[in-house]
Amino acid sequence: MAVLGATGTVGQRFVQLLEGHPWFYVAEVLASDQSAGKAYAEAVGGRWKLTTRIPEAVARLKVRAPGDSLKSPILFSSLDASVAGELEERYARAGHQVFSNSRNHRLDPLVPLVIPEVNRDHIELLDRQKFDGGGILTNPNCSTIVLVMALAPLHREFGVESLIVTTFQATSGAGYPGVPSLDILGNVIPYIPGEEPKMEVETNKILGRLGPKGIDPAGITVSASCHRVPVLDGHLMAMSVKLQRKASLKAVLASLRAFRPLHRIELPSAPAEPLLIPRLDVDRASGMGVTVGRIRPCPVLDWKFDALGHNTIRGAAGASILNAELLAHAGRI
Ligand code: NAP
Repeated sequence: MAVLGATGTVGQRFVQLLEGHPWFYVAEVLASDQSAGKAYAEAVGGRWKLTTRIPEAVARLKVRAPGDSLKSPILFSSLDASVAGELEERYARAGHQVFSNSRNHRLDPLVPLVIPEVNRDHIELLDRQKFDGGGILTNPNCSTIVLVMALAPLHREFGVESLIVTTFQATSGAGYPGVPSLDILGNVIPYIPGEEPKMEVETNKILGRLGPKGIDPAGITVSASCHRVPVLDGHLMAMSVKLQRKASLKAVLASLRAFRPLHRIELPSAPAEPLLIPRLDVDRASGMGVTVGRIRPCPVLDWKFDALGHNTIRGAAGASILNAELLAHAGRI
């Protein structure tokens, strides 16, 4: 497979997570004209920010230029949003299955926005796309994934009517070089451009129902306030949730603990326990788990709690790889 935007923060995660993957390996890497033509290790240079080394086989790959023809049937895209829209479509039209992390196609009516534990039935939208053998499947924004993983079991059992969520998001969520150090060190920035509407709208698409015209949104009123904090990895969020049907603390805890929607499907990147309660640790379950804690009554709505997830693993590269495993398991790729 190929990684598009392979030199960036999420692209590096793809390269790292795919090393030794039982089903997939990185055969091609693509980035901007500035990186094209160089060996991957040279193009990334000092921007490699992960604690493991660049896998040898990838380090030597020549970086392809935007629009170059590619051999890999599966493309993992972590392209900058300024180019992702057009390039991903072009590659889907050329017959590739694109797994995208970018915002560009998430809200297209025929593009599935998938978290395998939550709405894997939405992959059927791929059959309605007109890409001549190719397709585009997206994963949600990194904070929306964490939010929806924590909400999904409650929504399924009790119905979520409305929620207020406040996020504390890591600097790696802004890519590289991201937020200038003089703006973020010793500071909290109470604004992340475009993030709040993404959380409000994407949540309703993911939890919506597949219908004849696409996805009927879930109709949940979501109010999000997003903050950038000086933390390297991991998005933490505090939320208050109003349920359609009353639930006791015991019932809320039981529904979160019982959330094992993929336990009958063997996917290499699926965490055994997708929701971890109550330990707070961004790296648990190899970065693929979402930790939920501090579950307590809310005097304004019904229940309030915190959720934490790794933004570049569960919220980006790991999410895309899990989606590809889902399609491979379903015999679609
Ligand atoms: P990043 O570190 O800025 O990396 C951007 C990548 O896009 C680099 O590989 C860059 O290549 C490439 N690129 C830039 N302009 C290009 C062009 N004109 N043609 C082809 N490639 C080009 O960003 P990131 O954080 O990895 O984010 C990538 C995408 O994932 C974004 O759409 C972002 O919104 C989304 N996302 C990020 C996170 C996260 O936690 N960071 C989570 C979820 C989703 P060069 O190195 O050659 O410039």
